[in-house]
Amino acid sequence: MSSVVENYYKIKNTLPENVKIVVVTKTQPIEKILEIYNIGHKIFGENKVQELKEKKELLPDDVEWHMIGHLQTNKVKYIAPYINLIHSVDSLNLLKIINKEAIKNNRIINCLLQIKIAKEETKYGMSYEELIELLSSNELKELKNIKIIGLMSMATYTDDYSIIRSEYKYFSEVFENIKAMFFKEDINFKEKSIGMSNDYKIALDYGATIIRIGTLIFGERI
Ligand SMILES: *Cc1c(COP(=O)(O)O)cnc(C)c1O
Repeated sequence: MSSVVENYYKIKNTLPENVKIVVVTKTQPIEKILEIYNIGHKIFGENKVQELKEKKELLPDDVEWHMIGHLQTNKVKYIAPYINLIHSVDSLNLLKIINKEAIKNNRIINCLLQIKIAKEETKYGMSYEELIELLSSNELKELKNIKIIGLMSMATYTDDYSIIRSEYKYFSEVFENIKAMFFKEDINFKEKSIGMSNDYKIALDYGATIIRIGTLIFGERI
């Protein structure tokens, strides 16, 4: 077994059944990605549209692609024909554009709303207040070709696990509030996309259903 595949199983074998891995392929060569594909894993994620397009062309058609990075409105059209889940929706305007492009492609596009839980200025995502405002808006109800199926977030990048723990705790509280307020009857709203290589075990304690893993499978990015 190659080390990449071994690393994958080391994570996979410890996960609860309902938790999916998005294998994050950014900067990785196709041969390494194919090693994971060839053992039957189909869910891959990229954080840049350009790289996503390039990888999509080189990998088999049955890959389920996830967009996990900040998405500019003018790039939505490139991924709308095939994207399986957009993790990083951070405004109503972006949702409107995704809806428009989804209509053009005669699809419904699954989305997660990204909330900001880290104190770092560099992190994207909406505050709790912005999230409530978006979900309360009448315009949202008009968007029939998008489906919001959960929330996504990134914790502070730190060795201090107490900080990560408190951020993921906050995330799961926000999730429960939002679910109760806006998605009570909606069984589709259930995804919590939290957890990366350095903190996925903590994310699992707070109910992660999707973890996004790059480095721990492929090694440090080149
Ligand atoms: C790169 C990236 C990941 C994966 O990071 P690793 O630390 O390599 O596991 C997860 N989520 C997002 C949004 C990313 O950009």
